[in-house]
Amino acid sequence: MGKKTLRFNSKTIHGGQFPDKAYGAVMPPIYQTSTYAQTTPGGHKGYEYSRSANPTRTALENALASIENGNYGLAFGSGLAAMDAVMKLLKPGDEVISTNDLYGGSYRIFKKIFEQYGIVFHFVGMQDASAIEAHINKKTKLIWVETPTNPMMNIIDIKAVAQLAKQHNVLLAVDNTFATPYLQLPLDLGADIVMHSATKYLGGHSDVVLGGLVVKDKELADRLYFIQNASGAVCGPMDSFLVLRGIKTLHVRMQRHCENGRAVAQYLANHPGVEKVYWPGFASHPNHQVAKDQMKDFGGMISFVPKGADYATAIKIVERLKVFTLAESLGGVESLAGHPASMTHASIPKEEREKSGVVDSLIRLSVGIEDVDDLIEDLEQAF
Ligand SMILES: *Cc1c(COP(=O)(O)O)cnc(C)c1O
Repeated sequence: MGKKTLRFNSKTIHGGQFPDKAYGAVMPPIYQTSTYAQTTPGGHKGYEYSRSANPTRTALENALASIENGNYGLAFGSGLAAMDAVMKLLKPGDEVISTNDLYGGSYRIFKKIFEQYGIVFHFVGMQDASAIEAHINKKTKLIWVETPTNPMMNIIDIKAVAQLAKQHNVLLAVDNTFATPYLQLPLDLGADIVMHSATKYLGGHSDVVLGGLVVKDKELADRLYFIQNASGAVCGPMDSFLVLRGIKTLHVRMQRHCENGRAVAQYLANHPGVEKVYWPGFASHPNHQVAKDQMKDFGGMISFVPKGADYATAIKIVERLKVFTLAESLGGVESLAGHPASMTHASIPKEEREKSGVVDSLIRLSVGIEDVDDLIEDLEQAF
C-alpha cells in the first residue's frame, strides 16, 4: 500500500492515501453510492456493491493499516461490529481468554451474545501475564487484551502475552482504542489483530461511530474480509470520510491529550479530596515500567476515587462539572467525565465490577485538548 517508510506523524496524513484518480481531489471523495456501473457482467473498476467494498471505505482501511503498521485494514459500523467479526472466527466449544477489566460493551457481547453460541470465556487479570497460562488448553483459540484497561488503567504487557500466544498457537487481539497507534503498536509487539473503536481517538471529534481491525497476515485478513462481507456490519462512506479526516490530526491531538492528561493526573494526585488516582504515568503505578516500555506516553484517560465518596457523592461531583461534559464515550477533543458504575459499566454485575476495582464512587475522565487551566479550575469547583 506504499508510503510505508514514512514516520508516524506523516503516516496519519498520507498513509495509504492517493489523490483521487478522477479529478485529483486531495481528500478521498465521499462515494455515496450502493452500486457501480458495469460495462459487461463483471466488467467494473474494482467495485461492485458497497457492502463488499466502497472507495471511501477502502481509503480509510488503507489508512488504518498504515498507522497500525499492518498490511490489511477493515472498517465496520462500530467498534463492537469489528469485535463481532473477530468472534465469528470462532466455533462452538472454542475458548477465549479475555482481560477482566474490560470495556462494558465488550464484556456484554462476550457474555450475552457469544456465550449463547457455545464460546467459552475466561476473564483474567492480566497485569501479570503469567496468570493467563493456567487458562490455556487445547480449545483456547483467542486471547483478548485491552490495555490500558477501561476504566482502571491497568497496563498489560503485550509482548509477554504475545509470546504466550505464539507458544500455544493462539490468536492475540488487542483493543487499541485507549492508546491509539500514536502511543503503542500492538502488531509490532506481536499481536495478530488490532481492534479499534474509531468512535474515540481516531475519529476524535465525537461525531461518528465506527470500528476497525488491522492485521498483518493475508490469510487472517481474507477470513475477516469474508466475515465483513458476509455479515455486512460495514460503515458508510460519510462515516469513513469523517474518521479519515480525524486520523489526519491524531498525532497532534494525542500530544495535547497526553500533556493535559499529565497535568490533570498530577493535580488530582495532590488534591486533599482525592483518595486514589489511576493513571499509568505515575511511577507508583504497578505496571509503570511496562507502560514506559510499550507506550510513547501515557494518554489522557484518568480514573479517580474522591475521598470518602459513595455512589451519590460521585454523581454530584460529575454533575457539577461545567467544562467537562458528563457523557459516555471518550477520546474526543472535548473533555468528558463519566461515572462507570452507572454508565459505561452498568451492564457488568456489581460484584464483577468491584472485583476489578470499579467501585461505586469511581469517576473516569477523558481529558480533552482544551486549555488545561480551564479543566483544572472546573474540577476544583466541582469538588
Ligand atoms: C467504545 C469502545 C468499544 C466499543 O466501540 P463502539 O464504537 O462504541 O462500538 C470497545 N472498546 C473500547 C475500549 C471502547 O472504548
